[in-house]
Amino acid sequence: MAQENTGASPKPLPDGFLATLQTRFGDKVESGQAIREQHGSSEAHYRSMLPDAVVFAENTDDVVALMQLCVEHGVPLIPFGAGTSIEGNAAAVRGGVSLNMTRMDRIVAVNAEDFDCVVQPGVRREELNLHLRDQGLFFPIDPGANATIGGMASTRASGTNAVRYGTMRDAVLSLKVVTPQGKVIRTARRARKSAAGYDLTRLYVGSEGTLGIIVEITLRLHPIPEAISSAVCSFETLDGAVDTVVQSIQCGVPLARVEILDALQMKAVNAWSNMDYREAPTLFFEFHGSASFVAEQVETVKALAQDNGGGEFAWSNLPEERNKLWRARHEAYYAAVNLRKGAIGWATDVCVPMSRLAECIRETHADLEQSAIPATILGHVGDGNFHVVFSIDPDAPEEMDEVAAINQKMVERALAMDGTCTGEHGIGLGKQSSLVAELGEAVEQMRMIKRVFDPHNILNPGKIFTL
Ligand SMILES: Cc1cc2nc3c(=O)[nH]c(=O)nc-3n(C[C@H](O)[C@H](O)[C@H](O)COP(=O)(O)OP(=O)(O)OC[C@H]3O[C@@H](n4cnc5c(N)ncnc54)[C@H](O)[C@@H]3O)c2cc1C
Repeated sequence: MAQENTGASPKPLPDGFLATLQTRFGDKVESGQAIREQHGSSEAHYRSMLPDAVVFAENTDDVVALMQLCVEHGVPLIPFGAGTSIEGNAAAVRGGVSLNMTRMDRIVAVNAEDFDCVVQPGVRREELNLHLRDQGLFFPIDPGANATIGGMASTRASGTNAVRYGTMRDAVLSLKVVTPQGKVIRTARRARKSAAGYDLTRLYVGSEGTLGIIVEITLRLHPIPEAISSAVCSFETLDGAVDTVVQSIQCGVPLARVEILDALQMKAVNAWSNMDYREAPTLFFEFHGSASFVAEQVETVKALAQDNGGGEFAWSNLPEERNKLWRARHEAYYAAVNLRKGAIGWATDVCVPMSRLAECIRETHADLEQSAIPATILGHVGDGNFHVVFSIDPDAPEEMDEVAAINQKMVERALAMDGTCTGEHGIGLGKQSSLVAELGEAVEQMRMIKRVFDPHNILNPGKIFTL
């Protein structure tokens, strides 16, 4: 397992602290091994780093009370959603208390006429969409996992729809946050835009639980489009697939979703999701709009695909066919990891300006071909973001070092192209040195903000940067 620089070792809880928690929170506190494991391990390649206890918050008063206790006793406090983040973002590197937010899962209000809703942080994205469907609305941000809205806001998540609908940066209108001072603040009202002071909403979005605990989120919603068409198209080369995407965007086609999967990823998807796609570089598309507008978009993209060595478009117009297609895409991570039985997954992502995307993917692919470790390329290419998923043999520790070196090269390449070391997974533990390489002195400004917001370094310490 990878050994990360976590800034300090775990400290035992102060004497009597667990008993104090039990007095205040009763059976909302758990400290058994299994529950601690569940909150200290992740899908990804990081070793387990367990909290000493887990508290299940049921309301804002619980969060305020726990915050006050942790600050008073100097105990680390790590907010926890669904635990699906993949850069070690929710690991308890210094022990302490993991604050599970999933019992705060109420949809507080849907303001259909304003296209927004107010939710508690433990609401999961799939449940929110089920709730919204009857009102003709949807929430577009869809990381592959059924994450919580609080976790998604905190990692500035995105997904397959981001090319058209943006990321959590665009989706969050306002937040209610519990601060380390025990105050409950609201960062904005429900207005669509505001020029009222510092934009605290965007400061908390992506802050990975290091500045405050989100207890309510106001989200921007969208009408379900009149027509939706999904299609799959394979290509002779990865370049042909990427060029089709770049040219479609340059032609102004408002693609709703466009995902690239390389040949090995398609092989993995076929095996994992029991599909029979051609095992070649492939694009998954979705088009939204009125029926005539969708038809127009499709014609433009088909013509571009043909010019770039694309084959036939295989259409999925019925909702159940579309769902099957996108479920296969969302499970692509598990498909890739399971290219080897019992393997450990390591997923990384970078994002570059569109004009550099083809070059970045081509060079990354060449690096992967030099290695014997199975690794796939897939990603949200419509906004220049792609992932590599490695399938690592747990009995071959040298593979971790090899993957770390490939990952490092990928990040350096993206930065040299004026891109970013992560388009959506966040910094967590794994990309701290990459953040410094990317933003230099600006990271010192981030540290200053952290020291002012959380002077005792209680909240998710050791993440994004060490102090
Ligand atoms: C198969 C798979 C596919 C994925 N695909 C994508 C993808 O396409 N796009 C993408 O962006 N991500 C993707 N991810 C990563 C993951 O789903 C996202 O990072 C997601 O946003 C994490 O949400 P969560 O609820 O699991 O949060 P957690 O993992 O529990 O926490 C994430 C971070 O948020 C903090 N946090 C959680 N709740 C709160 C709160 N209420 N207040 C303050 N801080 C909080 C935690 O401390 C931690 O730092 C994928 C993961 C998997 C396993």
